[in-house]
Amino acid sequence: MRASTVLAVALAAAFATASASATESKASSPTDAVPVLPSGLPATPADVQPRQVKARSSVLPNLRHQEQLAYPLGYYNHDPLPDYTVYLTFDDGPSDWTSKILDILKEKGVHATFFVTSSDEKLAGKKLPPGTHTVIDYYADDLRRMVAEGHVIGSHTLRHSDLARLKPQTMDYELDTLTSQIRKAVGDPTYDITLLRPPFGSPFRGNWNTALDRNKVTRALNGKMIVVMWTEIWNSADSDNWSKGEWFERGPRIDPSAHQFADKVLMMETRILRNMNGEGGVALFHDTHNTDIATLPIVIDALKAWGYSFATMEDYVQWRWHKSSRELLDSQKKKDSSGTAGDGVRVQLAPPDAAPISSEPPLPVLPLSVEP
Ligand SMILES: [Zn+2]
Repeated sequence: MRASTVLAVALAAAFATASASATESKASSPTDAVPVLPSGLPATPADVQPRQVKARSSVLPNLRHQEQLAYPLGYYNHDPLPDYTVYLTFDDGPSDWTSKILDILKEKGVHATFFVTSSDEKLAGKKLPPGTHTVIDYYADDLRRMVAEGHVIGSHTLRHSDLARLKPQTMDYELDTLTSQIRKAVGDPTYDITLLRPPFGSPFRGNWNTALDRNKVTRALNGKMIVVMWTEIWNSADSDNWSKGEWFERGPRIDPSAHQFADKVLMMETRILRNMNGEGGVALFHDTHNTDIATLPIVIDALKAWGYSFATMEDYVQWRWHKSSRELLDSQKKKDSSGTAGDGVRVQLAPPDAAPISSEPPLPVLPLSVEP
């Protein structure tokens, strides 16, 4: 039995205990499998202890500079989230795997947020067909599906660039050019791109960047993009431990019956599900891995069985600021010299993630070809 099947069976048994109405058809016969949950995986959200969250004031002294930093508006690790809500986010696509991810989301009736990039790494050396000018163009069908099926498209920069290393004008070029490509692909010249997942989380993650970097990027993004980081403990880690044939690696694609494939699927399921305690979370996936295709249905079914609902990051903005992302950005542009927006929206202050809170090791800054 594949490892992922073991987990699915184990989860089904756990759900049957947690909720009589849930998954009765999935509960296996007692003789089929002992419900051995992977280490640390709770039977129900109530079994998970509340997470220990450091007060922001305790994070401040870790900064290299003691000045008060302003961050772009957005979601950062430990920011408030509605309970029992999961925000699935996918970075680095579209790719050859995206249409299958969309199939799964459609079948499950779930909406997600896709942070796309036009990086040609995704072609893995293949040439664009004649008449196709960009990678976004190449996958235009997938982008049109995202819009038609209720998902939200955000930016992951044109070339998957580290924002801290760009001059402000290059940053503008990266963001504006990608937006133009997306609009062309979806056939809507007004399609609004307001959400940004910074590649590598830079410069808003960990202590790798200086306050100078952060302030530079913040100035460039204020009034232009809302930053969407992720909940560190909901990082699927699908970009860690690459399995042979995953993503854009040349050569034969991974054999789904290989134990490495099953091991990775189990790892991803466990990473996401073990921390369910009823709190909301922004889950990080990449639609550039075929292991995600095996993982997602199980994760979605488990979250549903535990009472979670699914939403997009645009829904998050509405929940938190009671405005659309466009209205929020426009109101920020109007802010006066005191830093207060015309309607009371403040630039987000205090470092949200100056020191990694999670026990997980921080992701290294990797070259593009093997990055998250
Ligand atoms: Zn990325």
